[in-house]
Amino acid sequence: MGTLSSAEETAEAPSSSVCSVCKGVGFVHPRLSSGNPDYSRIVPCSCTRQERDKKSRSRLQRYSGLELELLQKMTFDNFDWKRVNLPPEQRENLKKAYDTALEFARSPQGWLVLQGDTGCGKTHLAAAIANYRLKEGKPVKFVVVPDFLDHLRSTFTPESPVTYDQLFEEVKNAPLLILDDFGEQSTTPWAEEKLYQVINYRYNARLATVITTRLTIDEMAGPIVSRFLDHQLSMIFHVTAPDYRTDATANRNKTARGRKERRG
Ligand SMILES: [Zn+2]
Repeated sequence: MGTLSSAEETAEAPSSSVCSVCKGVGFVHPRLSSGNPDYSRIVPCSCTRQERDKKSRSRLQRYSGLELELLQKMTFDNFDWKRVNLPPEQRENLKKAYDTALEFARSPQGWLVLQGDTGCGKTHLAAAIANYRLKEGKPVKFVVVPDFLDHLRSTFTPESPVTYDQLFEEVKNAPLLILDDFGEQSTTPWAEEKLYQVINYRYNARLATVITTRLTIDEMAGPIVSRFLDHQLSMIFHVTAPDYRTDATANRNKTARGRKERRG
């Protein structure tokens, strides 16, 4: 162990190199009023707090379930609500969806159901909420429902009744849960029952939840989805924009056509 340095030489060492204040020891001698180091005492160096913050951030990141790079990249900053080819009323709807999601991200309360066709932008908005919370250092759990049901199906079976499953507990209790792609699943009654337990528990506990789904309001029947319709708790936002990939296709075709015309 080297000699401990004294505090107050403000530590802004680059995170990759050894801390210039404590030389990597993690502790420093505080200064006496005389300005000399107090060799009788040691205090944690400020770099250890930075390290703790970093660790807690990577813990939150792991907990979030947002391991897909694609999802990590979906933020409010890069959400394109001014999509080309959208008629004004759809563009306005998309802007409103964006504002609603951003407001929810700032202060998650109740349930937000983002409903619309594939590619309308609802998953982007849901992931943006998750990434916003993570950036704030707040816990959030992102779950793709069909994957979660696969997990439940393989974990909970009538033959081998598991009594404890970590993912199940985390999803049930997360302070903020994002359920992406709800209603796309075909599954076993047993797994369905576990999903119902999650929804019902969160419903009773009033835990903040974001749900994206292709289900229409008419299709929201049955013990699970009927919870979405409780206006006391849940807000349903219907995103009317069509698949963004049709924008891309339209643009590609336009470009291809342009090229051909130039060539021809
Ligand atoms: Zn240090």
